[in-house]
Order: sequence, then structure tokens, then C-alpha cells
Amino acid sequence: MDFRSDTVTQPTPAMREAMANAVVGDDVYGDDPTVNELEAFAASETGFEAALFTTSGTQANLLGLMSHCERGDEYLCGQQAHNYRYEAGGAAVLGSIQPQPIENNPDGTLPFDKLAAAIKPDDSHFARTKLLSLENTINGKVLPLSYLQQARAFTNKHGLKMHLDGARVYNAAVALDVPVREIAQYFDSMTICLSKGLAAPVGSLLLGSKEYITKARRLRKMVGGGMRQAGILAAAGKLALTEQVSQLKTDHDNAKALAHGLATLPGFDVNPQWVQTNIVFAKLDDGVDIATIAQKLKQEQIIVSPGNPIRFVTHKDIRREDIDRLLSVLRSHL
Ligand SMILES: *Cc1c(COP(=O)(O)O)cnc(C)c1O
Repeated sequence: MDFRSDTVTQPTPAMREAMANAVVGDDVYGDDPTVNELEAFAASETGFEAALFTTSGTQANLLGLMSHCERGDEYLCGQQAHNYRYEAGGAAVLGSIQPQPIENNPDGTLPFDKLAAAIKPDDSHFARTKLLSLENTINGKVLPLSYLQQARAFTNKHGLKMHLDGARVYNAAVALDVPVREIAQYFDSMTICLSKGLAAPVGSLLLGSKEYITKARRLRKMVGGGMRQAGILAAAGKLALTEQVSQLKTDHDNAKALAHGLATLPGFDVNPQWVQTNIVFAKLDDGVDIATIAQKLKQEQIIVSPGNPIRFVTHKDIRREDIDRLLSVLRSHL
């Protein structure tokens, strides 16, 4: 039972079979029919013109930012944004693109007054503000559709492009009970991780206009992301976007149950109200020695990342019984 992340999922038996039987070719020549099919399918599902299969979500974000911004340009993002905090500064290092982070509101949105104040005037002192990058879900929270609509109006008014780090955008769509294109429609570009709750072993997608994806394809080659018989991976990716989406509802229900259970434990502060998808955060009282508890859990084959707040992530390899077992083992060690 591994609660560290939804990246730990094993591929499904159907994925392994599809991978074994995938028709493949050299994707750098554009010859892999399975990759081409995944890209076309993803584009049509999300309402974009084109898609690009990438090695990881980090690579998809990097190519996404670099395809919008030149050297000396800047993107606005959240202080908590994955593509600011957790991607080794790639946009700055490899793209010479300056991030301009803004403190996220508690619900994950970014305040428009602060965004507006951060946009630089056209003056040789400043970087050129080109792009607003949002994340959905962000720390498991879903950005409201009304906020996305306002963000689009904001970026239109200020002549900015808008990118979505949609690593878990399917979790957002399932939580809102809307097709993913209802979220995607507001953005110029979007990423999707196939290898998180959707259970593919490897791979992400970048989506956008044809012209934008052509640019990203060149950049993907530049950073060493051109893959050959990648249809082996894309075959699993296609099943991620078809057969695995409905699993996310179960993951969300399990996370909710976990949040309600954790809230009854002494020293655990959880607001189940905030648990909208598959990620649960619990604040711990000083008396809770989580490092020791994590070691004890490990002896019972339960893996968690110790921290305060502590994060638990549900996914297809966590069943409802596992939630109950985690709660009872945790309770016994408190
Ligand atoms: C995981 C994640 C990424 C990066 O994906 P990798 O495949 O791990 O590189 C990007 N953005 C968000 C919000 C993520 O959760």
C-alpha cells in the first residue's frame, strides 16, 4: 500500500497486453502509428488542434513554456506551481525564461490584482510578460470553471497567452463531472500526465495549435526527447485516456473516506471539505512523531512520505479496504 503518490501505479493487464501487441515505427520520422493515434485522440478529446507525446510532465511543461516564450520573456505562475518549484528551474535554465511567481490563494487560484501588478510595462528594464501558467488540479484542489473564464478574459485583456499544467486535469474534470474539454477550452496550451492516476507506465502530452506543437516537436528533439518505437508506451497511454478515467471517481471517494477517517485521529487536523480529488493533506500536532510512525507503517507494508503537513494520495492500487487498514494501523501507533 503506497500512499506517496499516484505515480506509483502499476500498468493494468490491458495496458501490458496493448504494449506487447502495439504496432510501432520510428516516431522521430513520424512513422509510429500508435503514437500518432494517441496524439490525434488526445487532441480531439481535449479540443486542441494537435498533441505531442513527451517523456514526462516536466518535459511537457518545459516544451510548453519554451514554445510560448523566447529568451528574456517571462511567465506568471503560482508560488506553489509545479513548473516553478519542482522542475529544477528548467524554464529558466534551458529556456532563459523568467518565472514571476504570485502567492496562491488557499483554493489554488491566483488573484487578478496581484497578477495585473506583476505584468511588466514595455520598457528595456524589464522582462517581457508573455504568459499566465495555471495548474489544475493544484495540490488536489480544482480550479472553478468560473475562475478559468475570468482568467481567460484577464489574459485577453493583457495580451497574454494562457497555459495549463494539467498533470491531473482528468481528476479536475471527473470532480466537476464535465468533459475535459470544458476545462481545456480556456487555454492556448495544456499538459496531461498519463503516468499518474491514469496508470500508464511512462508519458505525458502537450496540447495546442498545430503551429505551436510543431515548435514544441523541434524543442523536444533538442532536449533529447525524440523517441523511436514509442508506440509501446503510447499504447498504454491511450488506455489511460479511455479505460482509466472512470477509476478517478473511486480514487476521489477513497480520498474523501481517508480524510474523514484521519479527522478522527488524535493530533491529525484535516478538513475533508478541502478534499476534492485524490490528495489529502493532514496537519500534525507537534506531539505526532511522523518519522517514527512512517517506519512502523513500513514494517506493515504501508508506505507514506513523512512530513508536516503529511500528504496521502489515492490511486487505482489503493482499495477501500486499504484505507481502513491504514487508519487502524495509524491509530494503533498514536
Ligand atoms: C507530476 C507533475 C508534473 C510533472 O510530471 P513528471 O511526469 O513527474 O515529470 C507536472 N505538474 C504537476 C502539477 C505534477 O503533479
